[in-house]
Order: sequence, then structure tokens, then C-alpha cells
Amino acid sequence: MFEVVIGLEVHVQLNTKTKLFCSCPTSFNHKQNTNTCPTCLALPGALPVLNKEVLHKSVMLGTAIGATVNRTSYFDRKSYFYPDSPSAYQITQLYTPVVEYGTLQIDFEDGSHKIIRVNRAHIEADAGKNIHDGDISKVDLNRAGTPLLEIVSEPDMRSADEAILYVKKLHSIVRYLDISDANMQEGSFRVDVNVSIRPKGDEKLYTRVEIKNINSFRFIQKAIEIEVSRQTEAWEDGVYDEEISQETRLFDQAKQETRSMRGKEEAADYRYFPEPDLLKVVVDDAMFKKYSQIPELPDEKRERFVTEYGMNEYNAGVITSSLEMAHYFEAMMAEGITAKNATTWLTVELQGRLSGGLSIENAPVDAKTLGTLVKRIEDQTISGKAAKEVLDYLMDNDTDVDGVIEKLGLKQVSDTGAIEKMVDEILAANPDKVEQYRGGKDKLFGFFVGQTMKASKGSANPQTVNEILKSKLS
Ligand SMILES: [Zn+2]
Repeated sequence: MFEVVIGLEVHVQLNTKTKLFCSCPTSFNHKQNTNTCPTCLALPGALPVLNKEVLHKSVMLGTAIGATVNRTSYFDRKSYFYPDSPSAYQITQLYTPVVEYGTLQIDFEDGSHKIIRVNRAHIEADAGKNIHDGDISKVDLNRAGTPLLEIVSEPDMRSADEAILYVKKLHSIVRYLDISDANMQEGSFRVDVNVSIRPKGDEKLYTRVEIKNINSFRFIQKAIEIEVSRQTEAWEDGVYDEEISQETRLFDQAKQETRSMRGKEEAADYRYFPEPDLLKVVVDDAMFKKYSQIPELPDEKRERFVTEYGMNEYNAGVITSSLEMAHYFEAMMAEGITAKNATTWLTVELQGRLSGGLSIENAPVDAKTLGTLVKRIEDQTISGKAAKEVLDYLMDNDTDVDGVIEKLGLKQVSDTGAIEKMVDEILAANPDKVEQYRGGKDKLFGFFVGQTMKASKGSANPQTVNEILKSKLS
């Protein structure tokens, strides 16, 4: 039996207005190579100056994961030659990163938890982009010099599922802190996975393979599963040493395989040395006090939802996994409804109706409207079934819940007199069935309920119908 060993490196693009070492804007929707200056183009004589906002956001992350924030850290030069890096080196933090030794808790569906250690988080500059267009390759340097925070875990994860839980938790923390838009498709939250296997019980780490730049949760899961089975097969076939080497591989989603990209460089290949153009990075007491102020985090919010709204851990975890969803939920709760209904109508009914890239933030039905709709179920104005119809209508047309209920004629009839009248008519129209029921054919009760609901066009309060039928038939 084998054990899977996974460590993750996540590159988070920080959402600062300007780049790491110059005042160029960080937005990418501009014409190629226009958001550049002598510093990020690495022209001779241009000197980098650290953007304090980057330090601020890095300290926030460090605080959120309970890490040590190094009051003094340093930048280093990592040499590599690639067309999208005009300086032929990257400025990063190798020897003393700004953040070290944190932890992140992952939560399993059964309510248990596991702590994953975070080794470090360091600041570095992103490269530009190569654009391959037929036979021609072009370079766009708008992204060159944008700030990244690379967050490196210890190899503490033992399955693809644990890795996904870690990535999702980190993603959610970053969004809560609002230090990055963390958009995976657009590359502002990039995940590299280090995978190895070992016989169960073995403490030693075997050859690790790095799979780079995977841009969705689903692909991370798939890439790990595929790589684990490649390594396991090689081991079982007795060719592990020949076939598995320390290298960087790419996940090919179309072919469902990982394939070799390049041999993994050793640190020595990069000729790291302390960056001579930058001063040491100091976080003094006043800065630390200011930078370590952070908002409520997902775990705290979950616990608060459990105590404040009486939710179970799992539902509270689902809702608080996304900040947008948590905000939406709390705005619904302000309408004075139960957490159980708010959860269902948000996660099942509303989310089930969102498609084509629509997310909670830009849902056509806002939280107050959906909360009001749920309120109308709870005060028995409409049935749950009718509420679904109202929601369908609200999605395309309207925002006035009570107006739509009126317009669609879905108001539930709880008026006993009106229901009694309908029941009398139905019983009178079906004397044979009434006789059979009274003779012991209990199943016919459903028939009477169905007929009454039909007569009321679905608007009768089912509970009232049941009560009246029971008393009339007994
Ligand atoms: Zn610049």
C-alpha cells in the first residue's frame, strides 16, 4: 500500500493598484506593453522601490494563518533567462521571507479537521507574458513586475481531496482579506502541486514531481490523481527509478495526462544572491500594528453562524466558504427568516438558477428580495411550490415579491371557510369514494387531498386541507 505526499505552492497576485517596484498600473486590459516604465522594463540605471501596500497585504496573510511575520526580511535575485523577463532575473525572497511558519486548518465533511503547516510566504515579482501566434512569438510586459505572494505549504497532505480542501480554504482566506481577486481562470491564483508516493509507514520522502500552473479546483484534483497512478504503476512495475525523476510536468487536460516539461532545476542553477538594488524590508511596530488588522475570517464566521443562527457546522461551512455567499446569507437573515430555509433557498434554489457565469454578486435577485420570498413561505402566504414559481419570475422580470405573488395569483388560501367549501363540493361529487374510504380504504385520503389542491389551483394551504378533510371524513 502506498501513501500519497502532497505539498502545494500557490502564487497569489496581490490586488495593489501599482506594481511591486514601480508606479505602473497593475491592470492588464490595456494595450500590450503600455503599462511599463524603465523599472519594469529593466532599463539600465532604473532602480526598484518597494510598494508598501504589498508589504501590508503580505502581513495580513501572515496574521491570518497565525504565522511569524519577520520584522526584517530581504530580497534576493533569482537568475534565469526567459524572454518574458527583461532583467533576466526575478526579484524574490529566498533566504528570509516576510512570512514563515503558519498553519491552515482544513475541514472534512464528517466534521473533523486537520492542520496543514505553511512553511513560508514570500514576495516576488511576476514575469510578463509570451504570446505565441503561429510562427511568431511576442512578449507583453504589462504583467512584468506585478506583485505576487507565493505561499508554500509543507508536504502535509495525503490525498487529492485534502489538497483541494487546502486550496479552497486558502482561496477563501485570500478573498476574505481582499488581498487578491484570486481569479483562477485569469491567473491571479496559480497552483503548483508537488506529488510523491511512498510505502505506507515509510517516513522518507521519495522523488517529487511538480505539476505547474493548474487553473481550476477540478483540474488540481484530476492532475494529482493521474500523477499518483503514474508513479504507483511505475513502482509496481519495478521501473520507479528509471521513470520517475525530479522534474516539472504539465497537466494536459485534453489528453488527461501529465507530461514532462523540463528537469527540475536545483537552487544552485538559479545563482541566487542578495538583491543589491533594494534595502532590507522592515516592518516596524507602528506598521505591524496597522498591517495586522484583519477582518473576520472564514473559520470564525463559520463558528459565529453556528452559535448565532443555530446552523450545523457543515452548512455554516458551505455558506462561509465564499465571502459573497456569506454576505448574501446574512442579508437574507435580516428579513427575520430561519437559517434552514435561508440556506436551502440560497444554495439550492438560487444557485441552481444561476448559470452562464452568473455568480451570487451579480444574481438578478438580491438578498433582500429572496429573504422576503422565504418570509412569505414562513408566514404561509404562499406554498414552497408556489415560491419556486415566484422565484422563476423574479429571475427574469421583477423585484417586488408581493406584487408578483398577487400578479401570478399564487396567494395561499388558509381561510378555512373557503377550503371547507371546496372540500364539501369534492366529497359531494365522489360519494362512492367517500364510502370506500370510510370502509377502510385509507389510501383514498391522498385522492381527496389531490382533488382539493387541484380545485384551489394549488393555492390551498396543504396543512389546512389535511385537517379539514380528516374532520369531515371521520
Ligand atoms: Zn513600471
